Order: sequence, then structure tokens, then C-alpha cells
Amino acid sequence: MKVAVLALQGAFIEHEKILNKMGIDVIELRKKEDLNKHFDGLILPGGESTVQGKLLREFDMFDTIQDKIKNGMPVLATCAGCILLAEKISNDSNVYFKTLPVEVKRNAYGRQLGSFRQEENIKDLGSFPMNFIRAPYIEKVWEDVEILAKVDEKIVAVRYKNQIAVCFHPELVNDFRIHQLFINSIAQCNENKEICAN
Ligand code: GLN
Repeated sequence: MKVAVLALQGAFIEHEKILNKMGIDVIELRKKEDLNKHFDGLILPGGESTVQGKLLREFDMFDTIQDKIKNGMPVLATCAGCILLAEKISNDSNVYFKTLPVEVKRNAYGRQLGSFRQEENIKDLGSFPMNFIRAPYIEKVWEDVEILAKVDEKIVAVRYKNQIAVCFHPELVNDFRIHQLFINSIAQCNENKEICAN
């Protein structure tokens, strides 16, 4: 199994390190040609969604990645990655892949609570240490988006078909359960492509 990590900007190395520790082969997506390589799943890391969105367009990678996600490529999106997937962004006129039927709010915790750590329950996984860094939260979900976690009544983790999106940074803690959930979803999507395509 091979997992691609979008490596244009942000916290991609941290995801790669976790995947390495889990014994998963990793490739980096840095330019258009990298998208011709084979991979079974995709990680969209945290960082700055506006910068990532701009670079995806500039490097002509946007449409291919969007098509892959629509066709069922399993994705794990963290923080800015979640913003890239969202169908709507309540406080920004930009919108990106639009494959995840949720509305997010960028930098939703304001300046003072820009960064914080909280331990909360994730559906089926139990208590998980969550690091929020100028994080979004999810204000609305549509269709059959499954809510995986909330912090103070705000949705911070969801799953929809082939996509798992979290507002925190599981790559910054020594706990691989979110990454394992994603690896399991790759196997599930391979077994049943219909449940994963958008
Ligand atoms: N504030 C960033 C954005 O709007 C997201 C922060 C992060 O990925 N840690 O894109």
C-alpha cells in the first residue's frame, strides 16, 4: 500500500514520519508529474489553505486531485486540508475541492484561542489528544456526513464516503489511531469502490 502526502506547504513531514513508523510506503506530491505515480490514499496536511489552494492551481495539480477524490480516492485531511475539501467556507469567499458536504469556519477560535490542546472522544476510537492550531471548526454538515468528534459542541472530525477530515493535528501526537482509521478506510474503499465514490 502506498500513501501520497500533498507536500506543497504545511505540516506534511509529520504525516510522513507517522506513516513511516506504521510501515506504510509514502510518496510526496510536489509537482504535477507526481500525480502520475500510483498511490492508494492521499493526505492533505495542515498549513495555510489559501497558500495550498494557490499552489495547487499554479502547479496545475488541482483538477487531477479533485477528480481522484470524486472518483473515490481515500483521503485524510487535517486542518487546512479540511478547509480544502469543504463545500462551503462561511468566512471566506474562496472554495476549493468541494467534495465534502460541510460548511467550515476558518480560524474559528479567534486569536486568543489560536492554539490549544484538548482531549476528547472520537467515535469508535475513544479519548484522543487534539492539538488545534488556528483551526477551523465545522459549522454545518449535509447528506450523510458522519460526525466523529465534537469539542465544546463544535464539530471537529467527520467522515463521508472516502473522506476523513479533522480540524486538529493527529500528526503532532504519538498516537496513530486516526492514521490507522485512514489506512483501514483504504482497505474498505478497495473492497467496495461504490461506497467511496462521490
Ligand atoms: N488557519 C489555517 C487556514 O485557514 C489552518 C490552520 C492549520 O492548518 N493548522 O488555512
